Amino acid sequence: MPTLDIRQRSYTKIVATVGPASQSPERIAELLQAGVNVFRLNMAHGTPEDQQPKVDIIRRVSEELNLPVAILADLAGPKIRLGEVENGCIYCERDAEYSFVDGDTGNGPHELTSTYEPLTSELSKGDSVMLADGTVIMQVIAKEPGRVRLKVTQAGDLRSRQGINLPGVKLSVPAISVSDHMHAIWAAKAKVDFVSLSFVRAPDEVKALKDILRSAGSNAGVVAKIEKREALDRLEEIVAASDAVMVARGDLGVEIDVAEMPIQQKRIIRVCHRYEKPVIIATQMLESMHESSRPTRAEVTDVANAVLDGADACMLSGETAIGKFPVKAVEMMNSIARVTESAIPTLMWRDSERTEYATRHDVTRAVVSGAGLMAKQLKAKTLVVASHSGGTALALSQQRNLVPTMGVSTKESTLRKMCLYWGVTPVRGAPACDMQGLIRHADEWARHTCGAKKGDRIVIVGGSHLTAGPDGEQMASGVHDVVVVHEVEGE
Ligand code: PEP
Repeated sequence: MPTLDIRQRSYTKIVATVGPASQSPERIAELLQAGVNVFRLNMAHGTPEDQQPKVDIIRRVSEELNLPVAILADLAGPKIRLGEVENGCIYCERDAEYSFVDGDTGNGPHELTSTYEPLTSELSKGDSVMLADGTVIMQVIAKEPGRVRLKVTQAGDLRSRQGINLPGVKLSVPAISVSDHMHAIWAAKAKVDFVSLSFVRAPDEVKALKDILRSAGSNAGVVAKIEKREALDRLEEIVAASDAVMVARGDLGVEIDVAEMPIQQKRIIRVCHRYEKPVIIATQMLESMHESSRPTRAEVTDVANAVLDGADACMLSGETAIGKFPVKAVEMMNSIARVTESAIPTLMWRDSERTEYATRHDVTRAVVSGAGLMAKQLKAKTLVVASHSGGTALALSQQRNLVPTMGVSTKESTLRKMCLYWGVTPVRGAPACDMQGLIRHADEWARHTCGAKKGDRIVIVGGSHLTAGPDGEQMASGVHDVVVVHEVEGE
């Protein structure tokens, strides 16, 4: 399978979940060549010992193909699940009565258990209990010691170990369980690039995960999964504390009124834009491609709308993990994003509030924004930014310039982080202060990957070492104070 040319790849990044349908080296190679930028490992399924071979395969294939890719370890967080139900599956009729009881085993089909020990003490009369992705709903009608009694308000099938959502119930469950902690330490050792935390409720939980990762020697970005009302209530603080955000629509659509979810999706994207944090839209984007080689019209429109809203990345879950058409799903997502991007008016997403909350040096900010304008005015073939930590590449990405951007770094971990940044292609190369090296590199890259011809313009952002950094030091690459317009030299 030929690798997709840079000009055939969408600016919007593609996150693909790895599972039985996609974990062989051959399939990983195909997915990478089809346009995957980030592979997601769902830590809710399998132990670190099960995940490690996937990391090894991804790293090896990425190196063989010379296609950088980031790895995201998705921690399960405080997900509550049903215990075993009688014969593995029961049908809950409307108005039938059930009980949640303490302990691991219920007495008969009408006694249910959960993986959350304090469940019976933390539920109150009137609370709604959403089961099996919200397909079955029960309401608490009475509380007794060690038991709550519930009435079915929406009938349906329940299977053992299906998820339980408790919208509006304040749970005492810790954000990072013992197994999340263990998985985070593994993720740090495995040098994954991003770690996401499920069911985030407060910014401190994001900071706690960062502390665990940093003390285990990892600089991985922390992705906050927004899937609870409490997270929506503290959205700005959570976004500010995170390195990236995921709109986790699977659980969000159960935790809040599903009809409210599209508006919340747009709000989350806007807040992420203001804080210059990449945002991933997740779950059921091309759901029907589990079974079908073509998506529904509604799914195509969902992906296109996420792109139009300004998402940095779209995610595939079961479509690539267990679906019948994992590669086709990636190709389809790339194709929808590309066609949609080609119709976007320049600066459609530009938000006047955007710069207010960003933390970058003011010289870097001004230079990056000038470079974006120059690239558009000069119809540059490419924008090139040398970035030590990736921060300046992210600033350029957030401008949504619709000019292919080359993110140059000498650091492997930075190159992999750039895989999530909208419109940025990571390229191993010269540091920000080596302008001659950057020009040489950019010239070659533009000719070979962007089809640049002699005389075409390239806009390059680098650093002179002359501007002092925020702490008064002459930073290696922290302050970007140089923009060079280069005309391609070769044929
Ligand atoms: C979601 O809820 O949308 C999500 C991405 O999380 P998970 O797949 O872990 O349920």
